[in-house]
Amino acid sequence: MEIITNSAKKTKEFGKKIITDLVVDTGPLIIALTGDLGSGKTTFVQGLAKGLGIKRRIVSPTFILMRQYLVPKVDHKTSTKNHLFHIDLYRLEENVESEMRNLGTDEIFPDSENIIVIEWAEKGKGAIPKDAVWIKFENLGGDKRKIEVIER
Ligand code: ADP
Ligand code: MG
Repeated sequence: MEIITNSAKKTKEFGKKIITDLVVDTGPLIIALTGDLGSGKTTFVQGLAKGLGIKRRIVSPTFILMRQYLVPKVDHKTSTKNHLFHIDLYRLEENVESEMRNLGTDEIFPDSENIIVIEWAEKGKGAIPKDAVWIKFENLGGDKRKIEVIER
């Protein structure tokens, strides 16, 4: 599935809408985001968090690697999920997979109560579970962004 958005607002709306479609009760939800700087990954995560009922402002975790948010019990579709983990691998150059493990991914990834969204996921590809949903972002110039969802 692919869409082209023509504003940051539209990308947020897309994230907000798609999250309920992606959530599965039976396992964790891992969303791997790829695409260059400014292609809209963080903007998308802001919408996704809104769709989960998270009120806290989502900021780019670029210098922190990972941020954790509580998912409120609002929407029955996402009620099996308790936490959103927002990971950004941007500043990692070497040993990305062991750096990821240092974040505790061995425990975070398999937990079915978690939603994990990873920016610059291509950098840590080998450490990302096979059942992740991959979403590709592309800057088409101006305010146009192509978003391609590659389903499991
Ligand atoms: P990334 O996390 O991929 O580096 P960001 O979401 O942080 O990207 O930044 C995207 C930038 O592009 C923001 O400044 C945003 O306002 C702008 N922008 C313009 N048009 C769009 C669009 N259609 N979708 C998402 N962001 C857009
Ligand atoms: Mg970002």
